[in-house]
Amino acid sequence: MQVQRRLQLLCKLQARAFSCAPASSSSPSSRLEAHYDRLLKNSCDDASALKQIHSSLTTRGLITQDPHLSAQVIIRYSKYGHPDHARSLFDGITARCERPDSFLWNTMVRAYANNGYCADTLELYALMRRGGVLPNNYTFPFVLKACASDSEPLARGWEVVHGETIKTGFDSDMYVEAALVDAYAKRQQISYARKVFDGMMQRDLVCWTTMVTAYEQAEQPQESLMLFCRMQREESLSPDPVAVVSVASAVGQVGDLKSAKSVHAYAIQNGILRDICVGNSVVAMYTKCGNVEYARMAFDRMEERDKISWNSMLSGYVQNGQANEALLLFEQMQDSGCQPNPVTALIMVSACAFLGSRHLGKKIHDYILKNEMKVDITLQNALIDMYSKCGNLETASKMFYEIHPKERDVSSWNVLISAYGMHGRGEEALNLYMQMQEKGVAPNHITFTSILSACSHAGLINEGRKCFADMSKLSVKPEVKHYACMVDMLGRAGLLDEAFDLIKSMPASPNDGVWGALLLACRVHGNSELGEIAANNLFQIEPEHPGYYVLLSNIYAASRRWQEVGKLRENMKTRGLSKPAAFSVIEYGQGTIGFHTADQLNPYRGEVYRHMERLVVEMKMRGYLPDRSCVLHDVEDEDKDHILNYHSEKLAVAFGLMRTDPESAITVSKNLRICNDCHSTFKFLSDIYQRWIVVRDANRFHHFQAGSCSCKDYW
Ligand SMILES: [Zn+2]
Ligand SMILES: [Zn+2]
Repeated sequence: MQVQRRLQLLCKLQARAFSCAPASSSSPSSRLEAHYDRLLKNSCDDASALKQIHSSLTTRGLITQDPHLSAQVIIRYSKYGHPDHARSLFDGITARCERPDSFLWNTMVRAYANNGYCADTLELYALMRRGGVLPNNYTFPFVLKACASDSEPLARGWEVVHGETIKTGFDSDMYVEAALVDAYAKRQQISYARKVFDGMMQRDLVCWTTMVTAYEQAEQPQESLMLFCRMQREESLSPDPVAVVSVASAVGQVGDLKSAKSVHAYAIQNGILRDICVGNSVVAMYTKCGNVEYARMAFDRMEERDKISWNSMLSGYVQNGQANEALLLFEQMQDSGCQPNPVTALIMVSACAFLGSRHLGKKIHDYILKNEMKVDITLQNALIDMYSKCGNLETASKMFYEIHPKERDVSSWNVLISAYGMHGRGEEALNLYMQMQEKGVAPNHITFTSILSACSHAGLINEGRKCFADMSKLSVKPEVKHYACMVDMLGRAGLLDEAFDLIKSMPASPNDGVWGALLLACRVHGNSELGEIAANNLFQIEPEHPGYYVLLSNIYAASRRWQEVGKLRENMKTRGLSKPAAFSVIEYGQGTIGFHTADQLNPYRGEVYRHMERLVVEMKMRGYLPDRSCVLHDVEDEDKDHILNYHSEKLAVAFGLMRTDPESAITVSKNLRICNDCHSTFKFLSDIYQRWIVVRDANRFHHFQAGSCSCKDYW
């Protein structure tokens, strides 16, 4: 943006330089020429008016005589997006000229560069050089702008141009140097950009900002921040919104709240927070630092808001797991009169996917259709993902097949593979994986994450091993997350030693995902020895994560090692950690109802508790045995049963059995992993009451029907 503004300034400077030059002193001398000059300046509003003036100038023979007028026509053709017309005029003039003027060449170079005709700009530049016309400080910035566009065939032209700035001595002109910095930065050759920057005798705000932005774009936020501080220290430059936008984004990348506050304070002190772009970037910066409250405060204090402001706040909520807040804000956005756009729709679709609510998902989809929003492939893929995460795999799959095969991209396939995987339908996921390759779509790293976890959820060990081997065949380098999927798959199947061997063979160091998968597998298969190894690694990586302590104490509890359980609980207490509160939500009527474990505040509490107790009696008559290993505390068995009965997901399902239409499915989402005892309870209940119970937990979907679960007890 800023570079663009500066190039515009250069255009004006050049025009001024030209009108002072001796060649031009005679140009609009005659009254006729002055008349055309006025006509071009005042009465030429579009391309068709321009064409008329152009043809009149040609008829009178003025167009080739007066370089000033012809340059004006070229500039206007460029402005109206017709550099091709400009070029034929230019060719006509240069063919007649003996000593072509660099002014006209520069005008044409600019016409191409400003219209994004990069290859043509470079070609014209080469022609200019061959014709013996000397480039100058008005030529290079525009040629370099063309070079900056990231297209491989231009790479060679680029080196030549840089060489010629040096040869002609213009490499020490501040505008040319700044263009070099910008071009190197845009070509992602950041160290070269810095070299030119460091060599500059004089730097203005644009140069500093270009370099600060370059680091931010190259995801080197620390460098960006350091340079911004240096700029404030060394130069007495007036604060610049563009630089603040870049720095705010850099801080967002680092995720450092302290720096975020100082950037915010800087913007306030220098009075540039009124700039809407700065305001938006501050909101986005806070959400990326994980502080939605500050983001909301900055958002609420904005004097003016545009779509971007609303969208950044909405996506901030979704990214930070506050989808409900996003829904509320979405209502406010509509009330404020700000029309949601496809970006808003995309954010809201992912909010509904996060909440897993069929009702809300359908509502947002209807909203998109009703408002005739443009549904591009990204939004389409997000909708498929949402329907699958709301438990509606049929609609998800139908939508996938409704996309024209040519329009489906790799993400469309990935979304559907992952959908089948989450619903435990590994065979279908594998089928899609084969199909996509037959259709010539190359799987990427996300495809492999999806297919490996699909195999893992369905217990398809050999198939999973094969897919993992496919990765190197298809030149997709296995990343840590793929190892985590493999460990998860082997671990769930009880192949704990093989999983551990795989971890030991990893080229990179294993992360929390890898050890977490092993720990979970150890919990399922009751292996406390490996469980301790996994947990100790996890305690080092993430000492403040309560989930790992809970899992390890589950392992100890299962083998009745109460002393260790006690020690762990002590350890958690001293660290101020508590088990994340379990929470389940059931779809009911037009909305949802939430239950905490042993919920004391829920208005339905009394009837739900009583109903649950009746259900347990009924299940026990059919052979249900409570799985007491799911209780953490060292308490009497009868108490354990009592605690088990009030797990949040059980309360939600009991409510569903009481209150929902017997023909409909009971749909529950839980924030944590479903426990063994609840899992077996739902199998019994689905059989006794002939109900379809769908539970989405932190990992996947469980469809309980006629006494069994779609996960085949494998999760
Ligand atoms: Zn449970
Ligand atoms: Zn299941």
